[in-house]
Order: sequence, then structure tokens, then C-alpha cells
Amino acid sequence: MSNRTSDISALIKEQIKKYSGEVVEENAVGTVISVGDGIATVYGLKGAMLSELLEFPNDIYGMVMNLNVDNVGVVLLGSDRLIKEGDLVKETGKVVEVPVGDGMLGRVISPLGQPLDNLGPIEYSKTRPIERIAPGVMTRKSVNTPMETGIKAIDSMIPIGRGQRELIIGDRQTGKTSIAIDTIINQKGKNVKCVYVAIGQKNSSVASLTNKLKEKGCLDYCVIVNASASEPAPQQYIAPFAGMAIAEEWMEQGQDVLIVFDDLSKHAVAYRTLSLLLRRAPGREAYPGDIFYLHSRLLERACKLNAKYGGGSITALPIIETQAGDISAYIPTNVISITDGQIFLVTDFFASGQRPAVDSGFSVSRVGSAAQYKCMKQVSSSLKIELANYRENLSFSQFGSDLDAETKRILNHGAIVTESLKQKNNSPLAFYEEVIDLFAVKNRYLDDLDLKAVNPFLTALREEIMTSHNDIVEELKEKKIFSKELEAKLSNAIASFKNDKWPSISTTK
Ligand code: ATP
Ligand code: MG
Repeated sequence: MSNRTSDISALIKEQIKKYSGEVVEENAVGTVISVGDGIATVYGLKGAMLSELLEFPNDIYGMVMNLNVDNVGVVLLGSDRLIKEGDLVKETGKVVEVPVGDGMLGRVISPLGQPLDNLGPIEYSKTRPIERIAPGVMTRKSVNTPMETGIKAIDSMIPIGRGQRELIIGDRQTGKTSIAIDTIINQKGKNVKCVYVAIGQKNSSVASLTNKLKEKGCLDYCVIVNASASEPAPQQYIAPFAGMAIAEEWMEQGQDVLIVFDDLSKHAVAYRTLSLLLRRAPGREAYPGDIFYLHSRLLERACKLNAKYGGGSITALPIIETQAGDISAYIPTNVISITDGQIFLVTDFFASGQRPAVDSGFSVSRVGSAAQYKCMKQVSSSLKIELANYRENLSFSQFGSDLDAETKRILNHGAIVTESLKQKNNSPLAFYEEVIDLFAVKNRYLDDLDLKAVNPFLTALREEIMTSHNDIVEELKEKKIFSKELEAKLSNAIASFKNDKWPSISTTK
């Protein structure tokens, strides 16, 4: 009986072959059993691979996510309305890929590489699979070059190296995106390519961010991968992987790349949605069991390669949104443990005008100091401890007014340091400007100033050093270290600026 059945199916196959003139491979075509919520279950695809692209009718593609005994679970990368039960599905033999290369620069694209910016088709000659195994230990090198953010509070206390993964974490509206964008703006002229991956954001925010980058003349070294909140979950799920594939192409050519994932909390939610629809077992906070693996296999691909492999790097700045500052929730703890440190932003600081709202106590960079310039280290080594000391004394000083002179001195200096670390967004500083600021603060040239005068003083001082003491700037740029002579020179310059020029500037301000 079974022999006869197989004979009949062989006969039908033979006829189909003759009819269409093509060879139809065994197992290469299946049928849709059920479809809904962006998920299709397909029967008969015995040779399907994980992450393989399947072709549905009406030019819709799907990606294999579940390999079950007698069917496969597929997420649809398009509308599920055009697909119905019984439709034929073809294997393509390819996994999901994204176009890569310099043609992507200056463009806004979807996670599958389609243009979203009305600038015509994207030129590319190469594609890469979105998933790849991270480079092994023997191909890597420890970080040794700074990834300058241009933000004083970060470059001094939480330095980031090229090839590092540094998490930006905080509640909503605490300036997370601004830090990432300032870092991108600060890469102008530094030969770093930038990839910004927007996951689950409003299209309007992505548009205004694109305009800001364009205005600043920074878009031509950036790619923006946008899977907005209006896109189905599968697009949001693949977006960071697509961005990473684009970055990897440049890294393998020996270039430095910065990639921002804004944000991975929404990415986790998209993956949870998919997993629940695929009927995978929910775990803590209803996330699937492999959510840690999802983010670790993504972030592990950011690294610094050694010279034998071209010496390129990918620096990753993933962003995580917390609820009421709770960094011990599931996704925040996961990503904290995957990355090499975190920049923790606090709502209270932000609201009280301490912006960027970096909490130096909870923030850390585990490897970045290896990449910090010597001169930056010289002026910032005591900063974290001074701030910690200040905060501790501040909370005690609220109980009594009778303070000894030493406590008063700590409080006064702490307030000046805190004030000097305030910085507007969209105005990153060059490292030597930051160093000049920190040097003046560290050597207590500002301790007798009003708090309000701190930032105007620093701005005027930087201008003065840049115009009248260019030799100091040149030496800093070239040697990146303070010699005894340079220290003396800068001290003199600051002292004479404070005595001669500042009084007249401060009265006009
Ligand atoms: P969301 O949770 O909505 O993504 P976010 O944490 O990414 O918010 P941003 O969008 O970066 O926060 O910033 C929120 C607002 O604060 C913006 O209007 C931005 O212009 C402002 N802002 C951010 N950083 C600074 C700063 N250093 N100085 C002044 N304003 C700032
Ligand atoms: Mg944001």
C-alpha cells in the first residue's frame, strides 16, 4: 500500500517537473497550516534551517524560528493578511541577509536594507547574514584607543575604549539618546563610522534625530537602521542584528565603528512577543529562557580585532530603559552583566538641572581606563572620590549648620566640580578642552567663584587658551601627557587669565 502511495507521489512529481520545466526539489515546498499575529506554521519543510528565509505568496518572506517535529514556526517579515491556510511556501536556502558597504552611509534603512528616506535605491555589491558567530579570543586585542564621547563627565570618570561595550541605562527622559547622539556627533573627522539602530521608537523621533545629524554635517558617516514602533515585532527583532552585520563589514576592513542600540528593552519586548506567539515557554517576567543569549550573542560581536585581523573595532552603546530607577529588573541585570560597564542616568539629577544626569557612583567602565589618554588620567584620577565624598558630606550637612572648615571646603569644592560637569547636549568638547577644564577645577582655580560663574569662566578660559596659548593645546594634542613644564605653563596661563581678563568678562556677563 505504502509502495503504491510513494509511486503515485513520484508520478505526480514527475508530471510537475514536465509541466513547469523545472526541477522541484524534495521537501523544498510546504503548506501553511495556520497563520495569524505575524506568525505562520508551515507543514512539509523537512530541510528548513533555523533563520532560513521562506518565500510566501505575494512576495512576502518569513524567517524560520521554530523547528518542530512535523512543522516549522515562521515569523513573517511582512503583512500576514495576504497569506492564508493552504498557501504554498518555498525554501530559499538562504538565511536573512542585509546589504553592507559604503553605499549605506548617509541613509535611513529598514532592518532588511530597504531605503526609508526617499533618496532612491541603495547601492551595494555585497550582503551579509545578519547572524554570525562572534570573533574568537585569538582574533581579539584589548582596547587601547579612546572612543571620545565629548562629554566631560563620561570621558573623565567612565572612559570608553574603541571595541568596548558600554551600557547607557536610565529611566525614560533622562538624556540616554542624547549621550549616544553626542558621541556620534563627536566622531566627526575622527574616521569612525556610526550605525544607529532605532528599535520601537516613534518615526518622528527618528526623523528629528536624522535631521539633527544632517544639520551638524554628521550624516555622511552614519547609517540609521529604523524598526519603528509601527513595524511588526519581527522587524524590531532583527534590527540590531542587521545593524551589527553592517558594522562588521567595516570592522573587517580594519575600520573603527560605533554602534548604538536604542533601545534593547524594546528589543527584548519584541522578542518576548514573538516567543509567546511561537508558544515558547515563558520564564521570568514572561521573557523566554534564551533572552540572555539573545543579547549576549549580539553584544559579543562588538570587539577590537588584533593587527593580524585588520585591527578594526566595533564599540557598542546599547541603551536600556529602567522603570523607576530599578536596575535589578531582569533585562537591566542581563545587559549589565554582558557589557563592560554602564553609564547610569538618574531622574532626580536630570530634573534638578544636573545634566548629563550621570550618577558617578553607580557608573563604571571596566576596561576603558586602559584606553584613556595620560593627560586625562592625570586630571581626573581623584574626581570620582571627590564627588563621592561631597555627596556623603552633603547628606550630613543637611542636619546641622555648624560645619568645620574642612567639611565646608569639601562641600564648596564638590559643588564647583558638580557644576563644572554640567554640559548642554549637542555640544561635545575635544579632549584637550575637557582636560583644560578639569585641570582648572582640580587645581582649585574656581573654588572662590560663584556657582553661576563656573561654566562662563570655563568657556572663556578655553577660548583664551586656544587663542593666546596655542602651544599648550598643540603639546596636549601631540603628547597627550602633562609634563612638569606643561603643568606650570597651563597654571600660569590660567592664573593670569583669572587675574587680568576674567574680572572684565565676568562683569559683562
Ligand atoms: P526617552 O526615554 O524618551 O528615549 P531619553 O532618555 O533618550 O528619552 P533624550 O531624548 O536624550 O532622553 O533627552 C530628553 C530631553 O532632554 C530632550 O529634550 C533633550 O534635548 C534634553 N536633554 C538631554 N540631555 C541634555 C543636556 N545635557 N542638557 C540639556 N538638555 C538635555
Ligand atoms: Mg531615547
